[in-house]
Amino acid sequence: MIPLSQPQCQSEKGQTETWQEQLAGAFRDVPALLAALDLDRAQAPYALEPQSPFPLRVPRAFVSLMQPGDWFDPLLLQVLPLARESDRAPGYSEDPLRERDTNPVPGLIHKYHGRVLLIASPACAVNCRYCFRRHFPYDENTPSQADWELALDYIRQRSDIQEVILSGGDPLALNDRRLDSLVRAINDIDHVATLRFHSRLPVVLPARISPPFMDTLQAIDKNLVFVIHSNHPAEIGNELKGALRQLRSAGVTLLNQTVLLKGVNDDAQTLESLSRRLFNAGVLPYYLHQLDRVAGASHFELGDDKARYLHRALLETLPGYLVPRLVREDPDIPYKAPLA
Ligand SMILES: *Cc1c(COP(=O)(O)O)cnc(C)c1O
Ligand code: SF4
Repeated sequence: MIPLSQPQCQSEKGQTETWQEQLAGAFRDVPALLAALDLDRAQAPYALEPQSPFPLRVPRAFVSLMQPGDWFDPLLLQVLPLARESDRAPGYSEDPLRERDTNPVPGLIHKYHGRVLLIASPACAVNCRYCFRRHFPYDENTPSQADWELALDYIRQRSDIQEVILSGGDPLALNDRRLDSLVRAINDIDHVATLRFHSRLPVVLPARISPPFMDTLQAIDKNLVFVIHSNHPAEIGNELKGALRQLRSAGVTLLNQTVLLKGVNDDAQTLESLSRRLFNAGVLPYYLHQLDRVAGASHFELGDDKARYLHRALLETLPGYLVPRLVREDPDIPYKAPLA
């Protein structure tokens, strides 16, 4: 592991790279990633799929948190394309959430009472193998300024919308200038009380919590909520903690959501340790999600009984405020359906 006391992402000249440079320098190639982790392809204990149509993509900052030489590293397993992704499993589809049904204007999903979800950016800095967006040609469908205007008008016309959730893909995949203009436009809508971000970028590319982004947040006079997406305690390194400290000092409420993933975080100790490390970094656990049944991800699924067992184990060991709610997203239910 790269010592955490050193800046993790440096250019050849030893200068710390900007988040944009780090994004551009992400691994996109299986052999290069394996080489960086001292893994010999010939020794792989499972079959890889280097030609996946949903290609490998992982920033170096996230790779620096992996253990070299470990084929079963829980962070590596979240990003490495495996041959098992071609398994076909009943109940798994390319659009498991059927979000098209609750999509009144492009890029906006209004399914839950009082809050709307904006697909601020369809792009992402990482390709998680279990991602529900893996079958959408999102990168070719970046919302235009005109789409945003339609979405903003929709929100302006409905005074019962109290919360706007920026999601994606990943909203922080937007550049600072576009994100700033979107956030300020939402800030100008009086009846919106809360602006929420859902993003995994602080975890996989902590440098994304950049000075211009912090300036944007300072300009907002709504409640600010930031839900990071961390699945494993090893993801919570010093760089992420520094980014979270900045968000907290700007008055942002920090929450986390986790996806239950077989082979990654399907044991009680790992989940307990995740909750404790999150809290040490100023983050409260929010949701523990059962996997969305997206084709290609069935090998990550845990049965509901196992999920409930793990949740009960957390109730037995953690204070109530560190136990995330165990839920599943159901296309027919207008809230995250509790499983426990
Ligand atoms: C998850 C989700 C929300 C937010 O739900 P909370 O329970 O408030 O976190 C809102 N809209 C959609 C479409 C969602 O999937
Ligand atoms: S960070 Fe979220 S949106 Fe991006 S690939 Fe992973 S699961 Fe999908």
